[in-house]
This record gives sequence, structure tokens and C-alpha cells, in this order.
Amino acid sequence: MINTAVAKARAAQKNWAQVPVAERAAIFRRFSKLVLARQSEILDVIQEETKKNRLSAFEELLDTAQLTHYYGRHASKILKPKKRRGAFPILTKTVEVNRPVGVVGVITPWNYPFTLPATDIAPALIAGNAVVLLPDELTPKIADLMLALMLEAGLPEGLVTIIHGGGRAHGSELIPLVDFLMFTGSTATGRIVAAQCAERLIPFSAELGGKNPMLVLSDADPVKAAEGAVRACFANSGQLCVSIERIYVVAKHYDEFMKHFVANTEAMKLGTGTDWDINMGPLISEKQFMRVRDQVIDAVSKGAKLEAGGRVRPDIAATFFEPTILTNVSDSMELGRGETFGPVVAVYSVADDAEAIARGNDTDYGLNSSVWGGAAAMRASRQMESGTVTVNEGFSASFASHDAPMGGMKTSGLGRRHGRQGLLKYTQPQTIAVQRLIGIAPIGKQSNEAFAKLVTRLLGIWNKIS
Ligand code: NAD
Repeated sequence: MINTAVAKARAAQKNWAQVPVAERAAIFRRFSKLVLARQSEILDVIQEETKKNRLSAFEELLDTAQLTHYYGRHASKILKPKKRRGAFPILTKTVEVNRPVGVVGVITPWNYPFTLPATDIAPALIAGNAVVLLPDELTPKIADLMLALMLEAGLPEGLVTIIHGGGRAHGSELIPLVDFLMFTGSTATGRIVAAQCAERLIPFSAELGGKNPMLVLSDADPVKAAEGAVRACFANSGQLCVSIERIYVVAKHYDEFMKHFVANTEAMKLGTGTDWDINMGPLISEKQFMRVRDQVIDAVSKGAKLEAGGRVRPDIAATFFEPTILTNVSDSMELGRGETFGPVVAVYSVADDAEAIARGNDTDYGLNSSVWGGAAAMRASRQMESGTVTVNEGFSASFASHDAPMGGMKTSGLGRRHGRQGLLKYTQPQTIAVQRLIGIAPIGKQSNEAFAKLVTRLLGIWNKIS
């Protein structure tokens, strides 16, 4: 099955690579418009498969529309051949071109099952590749709808094939056949997949896990920070790679921050269904629910204190876990350093900004940091060891800055999505240098030594003026 899909993709890619970039990109401007126009149908399917609240589903839809619009508008410029300085002035004319890699394998998780496939596939296709997608096994319908909309926007048949059943079942069949692998998922799986790509020496890009810190610094407004923390921790029921799971608050703001954060969290409207006013929905699956519940039980049994939430809510849904704030969390607890990927956050009081920064960076992960304050936050932003730093917001300001790269430092990933890097990674840079008039060698009967002297003199002059 995978063999056939890759062979079909390889055949379709040959013609696709000849289509001008502007035409390829125009399809995704149309796709972007379709996504906005067909939003209620898309939101219904996202919600049906993931159980997330409607606003979280909308944020995902918006991300898809904006990112595909961005590449639809800017890809031609990014992919345009670039003139480069040649080996010898006048004599060598050099250009850099970006060739598609061929067939791109894309493996995506269940938490953002519309935008992650769409926003990885769109730049791969615009760069001239074909794609074989393995969406997560929990979210097949929304992947099919995404492809149907791309076809409706004018994407030729055969360039994208979706294989259902998930990466666990099909990943090791796919990786031996593709020319590039884009993986989004946990760091543990990322390592397995990376090893398989390394074996074949194919390029690989990975967006992995996070244990993202938020810092409330000395010149922050603790009330505003407490409002932002609710979005930062509990959007998409915390099942979000860039969401906040650790908060460090300087001692002078701690009480004020906690008072508002707990009150705001307890005021959240919890529920299921399509009502736009619901702030948080259930977790996607029994497995995810057990993971979150067990981490909280482990933390509380080792001395963590529940400041808000902490209960399962079968009265709302079988997989509902309340938005939960913990204090007294230590590294001996599973959620002290490990990713929860659910609506659970640990809050710590710290002496000053320096301690907040040091403890924020004290993690193997490096995906996103959120820093709150004025000048102190700007200074801290340059010291955070994460691929994105979001100042005075949780994550959305950096994630939605599509012209800039997004991805992880440390064990949170390799490579970047969004911006120039997110498109160029799906290409092989190629240098074409044309030598004119004379070769790079002694001219006629010129001796090697005379040639060496002449070149040294000429390049000496050139290096002075250029
Ligand atoms: P996971 O690693 O278990 O699964 C992710 C995807 O990988 C799924 O599609 C799954 O089918 C596939 N997969 C599983 N085993 C595989 C294997 N051996 N070979 C190939 N594919 C395989 O992760 P999950 O728990 O389902 O998803 C949540 C994780 O994803 C979290 O760690 C989260 O932080 C991360 N994530 C990261 C980003 C990002 O942009 N950095 C975005 C979303 C999710």
C-alpha cells in the first residue's frame, strides 16, 4: 500500500515540479479562502474527532488559513533563484536555485489534526514536492476533509496520498521510501524516527515535545499575567506543544498573581459540544485522560498542593479533567520535569528575575517560553533557551507570526516550520556556476607559478574593493 502510494507520488511529482511556483502557490491562496468560507463544516469535524472546544478548533482553522495564505503570497519570492558572488569577478556567473527534494513523508499527531498536516503539506507542495501523509489514527476524517479542500482549490490529483492507521503502524514502511521526513509528535518517537532517517541519510525535520515555562517578572502586571496564564495553560485542554506547564512568579507578585489565576481558572466554563462560550473541552482519549490523571495523582501523593481543579469530571464527559493548578511541585514528581500535555500547571515563587530565567531554562526541552513584564521581559527574551519566546502572551503571538520560524531547541526538535526556513527545508539548494571567457587555470603557455602570482595580485585588488 505504501509502496504504491510513494510510486504514485513520485510519478506525479515529475510534472508538478515543472509547474511555475506562482501557479502552485495560487492554489494555496484559494485553499486559504475555502478554509475560511467552509468554517462551520471544518469546525464540526475537528470537534467531533478531538472533542476540543469550538474556539480552540477555530484557532486551528485560522492558523491553517493564515499560514497557507502567507506561503501563497510569499513563496515565489522565497524560491526565486538568487544571484551569488562567483569564484572570479566577471568571469564566473553564479546562481543558487532550490530544487524540490521529491517525495516528502509527513507524520502528524492528533492534537491539531487540521492545521499540522495542512501547514506542513502546503510548503512541501509549493516547493514542488509530492507528499504521503500519515495522520494520527484518532483523526482520519479531518485529514480527508483537508485534502478534499486542497483538491477543490485546484491541487492536481495524485500529489498527496493519505494512508490511514497512523505512524506507529506505517512509519517504518514509509521512511525507507521517501526523500524527506517531516515529523510532529513526542520527543521519544522523534528519536526512533530520526534513527531511521539517519540510516538512510535523508533530511529530517521534527517538531517535538515541550515543558514550556512562563515567567512573571519584576516589572510585570500580575493581574494581566494571570489572565494570560489561563489561555497559555488551558487552551485546547492543554494538549498543545507550546502551552505552559510551569510558571515562575517573582515573590513580590506571587500572592496577587495566584489570587487572580485561581479565580480566573475556577470561572472557566467547562463543557462539551459546539457552544462558542465553552472555554475548555474534554481530553481527546482515554489514554490521554489516564496520563494526565495519573501524573496529578503521583504529584499529590508526593506532596503537591492543589490550588484549583484536580478532579475528573465524568458528569461532563468520560475523559474530562479539570483545569488544574498545583504548587509545591518538585522534580521527584513525574510532572516536575516531564511533559503532561494536559490542563495542568505548576506554579513556583522565585526570589528575582535571574532565578526565574535560570529555572525556566532548567529543562531538556526548548520549544516556547512566555515572559511577562516591561524592560525585564525584553532582557529575559534574549536569554531564554527556546525556539520561540512570547512576550506578554502565552504562545499565540509567536506561533501565529508565520513570517518567522517556529520550532524547538534542545530535545524539542530539529529544523523549523513557518517562514523562509519552513519552505526552503523542502528543497535541495543547488549552485550553478558558469565560467566564461577563460578557465580557472594558467592561460596558454603561462607557467603555474606565473598563474599563481597573477591570481594572487588580481584577487588582492578585488578583495580590497569588494
Ligand atoms: P506520539 O509521538 O506518540 O505520536 C505522534 C505521531 O507519531 C502519531 O501520528 C503516531 O501515529 C506517530 N508514531 C508513533 N510511533 C511512531 C513510530 N514508531 N514511527 C513513526 N510514527 C510514529 O505523540 P502523541 O503523544 O500522540 O502527540 C503528542 C506529542 O506531540 C507531545 O509530545 C507534543 O508536545 C508533540 N507535539 C509537538 C508539536 C510541535 O510543533 N513541536 C506539535 C504538536 C504535538
